Amino acid sequence: MAKYIIVSGGVLSGVGKGIATASIGKILSEYGYKVTAIKIDPYINFDAGTLRPTEHGEVWVTNDGGEIDQDLGSYERFLGIDIPKSNNITTGQVYKAIIDRERNGEYLGETVQFIPHVPEEIKNRIKKASKDYDITLIEIGGTIGDYENVPFLFTAKSMERELGKENVVYVLITYLPIPTHIGEMKTKPTQQAIKLLQEQGIMPDIILCRGKEPLDDVRKKKIETYANIQRELVISAPDIKVLYEVPINFEREQLGLKILSKLNLQPKKKPDWKEWEIALNRLKASEIVRIAMVGKYVDIGAFTFKDAYVSINEALEHSGARVGLKAKIDWVDSKTLEDKDPAETLKNYDGLIIPGGFGATGIEGKISAIKYARETGTPFLGLCLGAQLAVVEYARNVAGLKDAHSIEINPKTPYPVVDLLPTQKELLAKSSYGGTMRLGAYAAVIKADTVVYKLYQKENRIVEDMQQKLSPESLGEVQNFEYVIERHRHRYEISPKFHEALEKAGLVFSGYHQRQDGTKLVEFIELPKHPFFVGTQAHPEFRSRFLNPAPLFIGFMEAVKKHIEKRVD
Ligand code: GLN
Repeated sequence: MAKYIIVSGGVLSGVGKGIATASIGKILSEYGYKVTAIKIDPYINFDAGTLRPTEHGEVWVTNDGGEIDQDLGSYERFLGIDIPKSNNITTGQVYKAIIDRERNGEYLGETVQFIPHVPEEIKNRIKKASKDYDITLIEIGGTIGDYENVPFLFTAKSMERELGKENVVYVLITYLPIPTHIGEMKTKPTQQAIKLLQEQGIMPDIILCRGKEPLDDVRKKKIETYANIQRELVISAPDIKVLYEVPINFEREQLGLKILSKLNLQPKKKPDWKEWEIALNRLKASEIVRIAMVGKYVDIGAFTFKDAYVSINEALEHSGARVGLKAKIDWVDSKTLEDKDPAETLKNYDGLIIPGGFGATGIEGKISAIKYARETGTPFLGLCLGAQLAVVEYARNVAGLKDAHSIEINPKTPYPVVDLLPTQKELLAKSSYGGTMRLGAYAAVIKADTVVYKLYQKENRIVEDMQQKLSPESLGEVQNFEYVIERHRHRYEISPKFHEALEKAGLVFSGYHQRQDGTKLVEFIELPKHPFFVGTQAHPEFRSRFLNPAPLFIGFMEAVKKHIEKRVD
């Protein structure tokens, strides 16, 4: 029998529901169960692809090309599995499916109504996503009490009725504030969240209490009395420095066994946290290195928005845990590098990353940062736009192609080293704009004896990736070669017209994807004589996991380690 854990949040958003869900999943998989997770986003957008990053943080890209909520990233990083786009359910998808069906006459004249049609559609989606798993976590976005949550809570309640209480467990995540003028942790907002949940007929089975401090006994007792649940089911979840410690913390209160018992399940095996703890300890004890992430940053009020690069931060944590370094990331606004010598800012860093991006803002600042990294031997990793700009910089300053550019930024450049392919141009002319994006997993053939090859080889990723199932389009014509798989989200490509000139000037193209129509698309570039200068058209950060860091990030951090050995300060 499939089992479900419904995770909802009270009091306020942004208290780490995604991490808590991912951690519960990890714990249950350590007890021997096959676990997956679903994220429900109650907004009307079909997916997160069109959401402004300042609105919603990073857009997470799945293997099957979904552009969705970043919580799926946390699930993948903790659970170590690939999660498809159908595990992100939005109100928009649910209503669109129902309306499309109605327009096709599939309801045979029935009145289509909120009840039963909406919960039925949600349930079908949940059942499909959980088909091959023992336990499915369902995180409901937003906060209890939001109008838009109601259909999903209603569905949960109806699943409980259909499947039986022992198959549907509710976890409520709340927040206990400590107002500075009182200096005491307050339980009232939590009491109110419990009440709001009860209005939907739901009694929480477990309450996870987030807060700056651990929950003391007095407060546990208060919540016990108010929610009418045993004290040991009220779990303290204080702030911690390293996210990957959350499952270990939960297990200190035996959360896994408590949930299993609610689900009427026995542990199938003894959890083994050894590898996880080794990585965690390495990370906690690590030496700090300074990484500059040169990008376009938007200020929101008095705060700078950094959530747009969560996966890169995490990939740096993972690779840091591997090589014994802790990356302290500084977000450097590339605009600030435009009218000065970039060395003034960048000399303070041990490594440089240019992340993905769209549009023209701050581009020249990024290019001059790349030039600095290339000339000074500072470890450099270019991700998607970062790789494209590394090609632009090399074309301009080494290959002598004056004013070379990406046509995304300068459509009139004499040397469009980053361009749209003819087939993409046809699509654009027909104005199917969305269709020109390369999205999701693609196979890339990698050239022997390159830095990139060695890194993937060492992590066993060539063998592993070649066993993965891919659609014919994602696989392309690579079967006769050694290849790896990474995820993509971009429109422009490094133009084949300039490969020869750039190669002659010393740039190495270390990997390519070959489409079914024979077109070769550059996936990796590198400079062999540089301590570490690698760019990729892909986003390897999307496949980085705590225990399986992305090979290119490992290479970058290893180079940073060597770089700091030379540091004099
Ligand atoms: N804007 C570039 C493109 O569309 C790069 C996108 C990215 O960095 N993800 O190709």
